[in-house]
Amino acid sequence: MKCPVCNTEMIKTNVTNKSPYHYKECGLPEVYLVGIETFSCEKCGEYSVAIPKIEQLHKLIVKDLLEKPSVLTFKEVRFLRKEVGFSAKKWASNMGISPEHLSRSEKADSALSVPMDKFVRAIVTILSNDSHGKIKDILLGEAEDLKVPHKKKERFKAKFKLDRLDRNGWKFVA
Ligand SMILES: [Zn+2]
Repeated sequence: MKCPVCNTEMIKTNVTNKSPYHYKECGLPEVYLVGIETFSCEKCGEYSVAIPKIEQLHKLIVKDLLEKPSVLTFKEVRFLRKEVGFSAKKWASNMGISPEHLSRSEKADSALSVPMDKFVRAIVTILSNDSHGKIKDILLGEAEDLKVPHKKKERFKAKFKLDRLDRNGWKFVA
């Protein structure tokens, strides 16, 4: 690989357990990678790293965070919310906190309360498996998008729903 700055051939290094690559770009303080290649230029000092299959890597980090046996921190939650496609503003609104509060907490990397931690894990787990993006639309939507009865006695009629059983199992029809 040629240096993008001075066009000199760069020196390739395989990253091993001896000196793992600190993956600061993901925004988490403690993620290190091995088995990848880095490229450095002796002439001008340019440095680059190749991280293949980054989507799969991020899915692995999500899984690891969701299974973490201690309370999540706000930096970890920032990683999770970006992975499931929430902006800071939408996320704060869904958490019932102000965007300023969220930003301060992410910077300080404080720990979540236990109920909030469980709520975040549940939301991220659901959205990670939300193949049609329909649940995401509801969660990302404005509060007004979700219809709420206005009067005390008003109720919405239950939705007509037809499911059919065929050889492959139950299927939603209408
Ligand atoms: Zn160079």
